[in-house]
Amino acid sequence: KPVIIIVIGMAGTGKTTLMHRLVCDTMGSNKRGYVINLDPAVMTLPFGANIDIRDTVRYKDVMKEYGLGPNGGILTSLNLFATKFDEVVSVVEKRADQLDYVLVDTPGQIEIFTWSASGAIITEAFASTFPTVVAYVVDTPRSTSPVTFMSNMLYACSILYKTRLPLVLTFNKIDVAKHEFAIEWMQDFEAFQTALESDKSYSATYTRSLSLVLDEFYKNLRSVGVSAMSGAGVNTFFDAIEASAKEYMETYRADLDKRI
Ligand code: GDP
Ligand code: MG
Repeated sequence: KPVIIIVIGMAGTGKTTLMHRLVCDTMGSNKRGYVINLDPAVMTLPFGANIDIRDTVRYKDVMKEYGLGPNGGILTSLNLFATKFDEVVSVVEKRADQLDYVLVDTPGQIEIFTWSASGAIITEAFASTFPTVVAYVVDTPRSTSPVTFMSNMLYACSILYKTRLPLVLTFNKIDVAKHEFAIEWMQDFEAFQTALESDKSYSATYTRSLSLVLDEFYKNLRSVGVSAMSGAGVNTFFDAIEASAKEYMETYRADLDKRI
């Protein structure tokens, strides 16, 4: 069975560029990939998608028809698409033995996917049928301040608990800023505290207790550094995906089988 990789991240973190990189990498090696675009508002995709939400719903028409703004249009488009998502799953199922990975790009505005009913429906439809992993993309150069870093990790943490799926923290743009600082902060609580204390913009006591929560969260995930632009780290990324797929079978799948 193929592993479903759901690419999630804040706008501009490089999800689409990473998708493109992963598509090129799978084509260049003997990994067999399948590509799904769930962003109704993307203008041009740098890669060819096997399934594209834009073939089914036109978000500008949805905006007009329902009298919505851009965010409402995107959300409603995703809702409309989610109602037919069983068809997508069965298309993938038919091809299952010929595929290693299914790459899924999500809307630019993260909350449209992570905090909507349709995002949950789509995620669960995949996760109840295939090993499914979330790749949470982080804009590394924009996360070098301890407070920004922590807010970003709290967001990732909420996604982990909401989806209950294995999560790979994907530090992107390492061609601009290396992610070693992040690894150090995640592994060494004191190092992070020292960095925080030198940042006077936030209440130290508040962030201190939050970072204790995060310490527990870090133990539950894998992190890798990549450059979607240069291709650095892509092999490590796939290794982390494989390990997470295994974790899916041992945890999520085992839970699911118990409930059925
Ligand atoms: P998305 O909104 O998450 O889909 O982000 P995009 O893939 O559209 O990328 C946003 C911007 O970041 C674009 O200008 C990309 O060229 C740039 N970008 C993406 N990945 C990298 C990377 O690895 N390194 C650098 N330097 N820029 C990147
Ligand atoms: Mg995008």
